[in-house]
Parts: sequence; C-alpha cells; structure tokens
Amino acid sequence: MLVDRRTFAVGSAALLSGCATVGTGRHYSGCTPLPPVLVDESRVIRTVAGLRPYRRSGFVVRAEALGTKRLVHNYGHGGAGITLSWGSSKLATELGLQGHIGPVAVLGCGVMGLSTARLVQEAGLPVTIYAAALPPDTTSNIAGGQFHPFGFFAEDAVTPEFRAQFARALDYSWRRFQVMVGDDYGIHWLPTYVEADSPEAKIIATFPPVNRMVSVAEHPCPLESVRRHDTLYVETGRYLRQTIRDVQLAGGKIEVRRFTTPADLAALPEALVFNCTGLGSRELFGDQELHPARGQLAILEPQPEVRYAALGDFGYMFPRPDGIVLGGTFELDQWDTTPDPKTIARILALQKRFFDGFRCAA
Ligand SMILES: Cc1cc2nc3c(=O)[nH]c(=O)nc-3n(C[C@H](O)[C@H](O)[C@H](O)COP(=O)(O)OP(=O)(O)OC[C@H]3O[C@@H](n4cnc5c(N)ncnc54)[C@H](O)[C@@H]3O)c2cc1C
Repeated sequence: MLVDRRTFAVGSAALLSGCATVGTGRHYSGCTPLPPVLVDESRVIRTVAGLRPYRRSGFVVRAEALGTKRLVHNYGHGGAGITLSWGSSKLATELGLQGHIGPVAVLGCGVMGLSTARLVQEAGLPVTIYAAALPPDTTSNIAGGQFHPFGFFAEDAVTPEFRAQFARALDYSWRRFQVMVGDDYGIHWLPTYVEADSPEAKIIATFPPVNRMVSVAEHPCPLESVRRHDTLYVETGRYLRQTIRDVQLAGGKIEVRRFTTPADLAALPEALVFNCTGLGSRELFGDQELHPARGQLAILEPQPEVRYAALGDFGYMFPRPDGIVLGGTFELDQWDTTPDPKTIARILALQKRFFDGFRCAA
C-alpha cells in the first residue's frame, strides 16, 4: 500500500525534533511566525476517502467513432483532476467541436464534465450532462483542491505526445483558474511552504508559480529546508455548486442517468458525446489501465486565521472556509471508500507533530 504523497515513514523521519534547532544544530533567533493549525482529534469535523482515477500512462483525451456518433474521451486525471480540468477539457473540446453543429452530450458531472460542458456552451452549442451521480456525490467534491499537478502518471510510462498534451492542459488551466479567483467560485491564492527535498518540491518546478527557497528566519516550520510558492486553492464544494449554476444559467440540462455499456449511448439524441466519467470509464469503456488511487483526508474545524498551506513528507494542510484539510494518502487499487481510523490517526499524528514543532507562533 502506498501511503501519503510519499510515505508516512519517511515523513516522520524528516521532521526536526527540536523547536529552535534547525538542521545543522545552530540556533536561530529570527523566526517569522504563522498561526499553527490546532491538530486534535476533537477538532475533526469529518473524514473522507475518495478514489482518484489513476492511469500510469496519464489521462486520456482522444476521439473515436461509436456507431453514428463521435465520442471524445476526457478522463483519468489521477490526483490532478481539479488542476487539469479546464486545460484537459479545452483539449477535448478542440478535438470534438471541430466542424460539429447541434447539441452535445457530456457524460459525468464531476469537475471534468462540468468544465467540458462550460466550454461547449462558450462555443455556442447546447449541452446536456448525463451522470450517474451529481455533486456532492462525486470524487471531485472530495478533492483537497490544490492547483498542483500531482499523481496522474508514471514517468516511465508516458509518451512525448502525452507530455505535450499535459503541458498545454496545465498552461490553459493555470490561466483559466486565475480569472476565476474570488469568493464566487471559492478560489484563492495562498502562500505554500513546501519541504524542499520532498517530491512535492520537484513538482513545483514543472509549472509557473513564483517560488523560492526561504531562510529559516522567514518561516516557523520544523523542517531542514523550505521552499515557498504561491498557488491556487479551490474550495471544491462551492466551486462545483457554482459551476453547475453556470451550466444551468446558460441553458444546460442535467439528467441523472447511468450507462452500463457503450451501446447505451446509441439512445442519446446528441451526435457528439464527451466521456468525462473518471474512474467509471474502467467499467463503462473497459479501460483496465485505469486504477483507483484512494486518498483519505481528515477535515478539522475551520481556522480563518490560517492563511497559508504546507506540504511535505508529513502530508499536506490546505485551509479552506469549510475546514482545514489534512491529507493524505495515495493507496493504489484500494476500492473501499470508508475512511480507515488507523490511517486517519496517522495523518493526525504527523500533522500534530509538524505544527507542535513550530519554532514560533502567531
Ligand atoms: C483525497 C483526494 C484529494 C485530491 N486532491 C486533489 C487536489 O488537491 N488537486 C487536484 O487537482 N486534484 C485532486 N484530487 C483528484 C481529483 O479529485 C480527481 O482527479 C477529479 O475529481 C476527477 O474528476 P472527474 O470529473 O474526472 O471524475 P468524478 O469527479 O469522479 O466524476 C465522474 C462523473 O462521472 C459519472 N459517472 C461515472 N460512471 C458513470 C456511468 N457509468 N454512467 C454515468 N455516469 C457515470 C459520475 O457519477 C460523476 O458524475 C484529489 C482526489 C482525492 C480522492
């Protein structure tokens, strides 16, 4: 079982034990305070587990003919579906809408189906979303919502063509989310402190945020070395709610409907169909490369004074108006969506150790 964005074992070893001693054993008087998260079991307001739609060779954006219909796939975004939603959907709609006139069907009402539907509407075409489940009962609602291209392919399994798609998708998403910043959609910039030698720090180098190493005087974290960058955070519940409203305001329809085989699509009136069913594509379209990567989160009572995020081998913390999100795990081939109390206890223990270790506090 893969645990955490890396492993909990590594995580606990990487935290420094002392409060005023950093790395080399030198003592620093300078320390820029931040309010610590109050990590305690009594502050947990909910725990969740969700299944990321993971493919080693990356997400699928591809068109094919299905009887008389044109089918465009847009699924398999692993741990980065929120991040890549607008960009991947842009690639999919560019592929599907060329030369098309008339109504369009979108399968799936998670973040991918909703952004695809909006782009179809922005191109001037009517859209109907068909989905087995609607928010809040989608994986997209469980996501922490950090703009961070993490956990959606294996380095040794991707093609140069995929890398090019990824780069284009990331670029479009990055720009699109920026013009949606604000309370309406629950999207905000936050300074993010990242353990500098964790895998997370390498990811930051793959997309554009301003980032730099910070000195020990510039943060209170009990870590050897820290990189700070600013990125976007999406309050997923609010965002999906608002996006559904956008689809409906623009005349879009939403129908609850489950498809069991591709042949079911023949009954749809639309000639163009976008498949945004996430992990559902494994069964519906027989994509056996698609695997669940379970993620578990503990959500603490909101702490409005916490206006930064932190991540590293100890896990991650994203503050949202609806709660402080503590994560997380990355457990391949685990299908059970019941949070495991032992794993949740481990998440809390590592986070508590991290925040209790703050060298100074606001
Ligand atoms: C714990 C956790 C934390 C995460 N954190 C982040 C993060 O910080 N940043 C980030 O970018 N990503 C994150 N993710 C990943 C992100 O949640 C997913 O990549 C994303 O939600 C996938 O979106 P989707 O629309 O493809 O799938 P879903 O949200 O699963 O939506 C699929 C839709 O298809 C429908 N459907 C499925 N099968 C059928 C069928 N047979 N017939 C009809 N309809 C069907 C479903 O009902 C649903 O409406 C996280 C995921 C987890 C689990």
